[in-house]
Parts: sequence; C-alpha cells; structure tokens
Amino acid sequence: MEATNVRATPEEPVRLLVFGRQGAGKGTQAVRLAERYGVPHISTGDMLRAAVKEGTEFGRQAKAIMDAGGLVSDEIMLGIISERLALPDAAAGWLLDGFPRTEQQAKDLVALVGEGNIDLAVDLEVPEDVVVERISSRRVCSTCGAIYSVGSPPSQPWVCDKCGGEVVQRDDDTEDAVRKRLALYSEQTVPAVRWFDTLGLLVTIDGVGDLDSVTADLVAAIDARVG
Ligand code: AMP
Repeated sequence: MEATNVRATPEEPVRLLVFGRQGAGKGTQAVRLAERYGVPHISTGDMLRAAVKEGTEFGRQAKAIMDAGGLVSDEIMLGIISERLALPDAAAGWLLDGFPRTEQQAKDLVALVGEGNIDLAVDLEVPEDVVVERISSRRVCSTCGAIYSVGSPPSQPWVCDKCGGEVVQRDDDTEDAVRKRLALYSEQTVPAVRWFDTLGLLVTIDGVGDLDSVTADLVAAIDARVG
C-alpha cells in the first residue's frame, strides 16, 4: 500500500462508508482503511453478532433474521448506529461497514450526521460468480471477527492468529442464505448506493484483484477527497 499522511483528527475528521455485496472483500478492506485513517471500524454485522453471543432477547431475534439472510429493521439499526456514533472514539470520524443497507437507512444516516459530514462512500464492485465462490470459502473468528478463507487459513487450523478464538464458517454463509442476501443487496442496498451517487459522494472501485492493490485504489480515492 502506498504511504500517505492522512490521519483523522477531531478538527479534520474522516467519515467513510464502505459498500459492497457480501463477499466483495468489504469487511477486510474496511478493517485496513479504518487502521489507515485512525478511525473506528463500525461493522453493524459484527455488532449484531456480538448481541447474538450475549444471548439477549434482542440477540435471539437478530440471529433468526440473520440466519435467514434477512435484514434487521431500519428503526432498530438507526438506534444502534446513533448510540455507536455518540461514543467518544467516533469524534475524529468513523468508517461504517454494513450500514446503511437500505435507502431509508441512508436517509436516516444523513439526517443523523448531516450530508456535509460524510466524506466519501466507496462501492467495491465484484461480479456475482466471484462473490459466491468467496463467501462459500470464507471463515471468520467467532471471537474477534477476523476474516480468513479456506485458501488463506490461520497459521494453526482453525485458531485465530489475532486472538486465539475459534475460526468457523458463519451460520449465515450457507448457500440459501447467501443467495437471499445477494438478492436483498440488489433490491435494498443498491438504491442506497445510488442515492449517495446522486449526492456526489460515491466512488466505485474494482474489487477484483489482490487485496493490496484494491486497498491502494481505495486509499487513492479517499485521499483525493479528504487529503
Ligand atoms: P454483515 O456482516 O454486514 O454481512 O451482516 C450480517 C447480517 O447482519 C446481515 O445479513 C443482516 O441480517 C444483518 N445486518 C447487518 N447490518 C445491517 C443493517 N444495516 N441493516 C439490517 N440488517 C443488518
């Protein structure tokens, strides 16, 4: 990755959205970008999985929706994201991964933070056959959410290199749920992506290719906006 100097500060925050179909490499790139710019990586999927692990009533309801490949309601998601963005570590900016996922959530986010307070939305584009293959080989750490794959496993089978947690296949990475999530992405999330395009906030990046070159393309597009 090319070295650049942009780091978020409360005076010059960096506020990013990362879009991409399941399997586009969104989560992996989101972690890299959040580290690069010094902002919290806010993944609504990770937050919901944490709630599931806690075993609360809400977690049980969320698990049923997630396992079926559905979407948690816009109202609940707005509550979750409003609370998260109010935490002190979000003062210098944030990177949202997995939110907004519907046009309503996009409008809710803009109403919450203000249109001028979103620097850029990036859309990672990857053809459907490539994402289906990627998702079926994806494995994640059940403790910290680190992402691996059958072709790129942790150094000891299947123990997370980062935290020692168990690396597993996600319950919602089954073929049926994946197909449903891809259809939902086209129906529900593509309109949200287009909406950011109409606001002049969207950049589309080719997500096929090696991780480092995709990261470099993302960084170049973001630096051009926030640098
Ligand atoms: P992800 O890790 O982003 O693929 O999210 C996993 C699952 O969590 C999704 O398939 C949805 O069921 C749920 N989810 C995550 N983010 C949202 C959101 N913004 N709105 C509704 N449901 C969500």
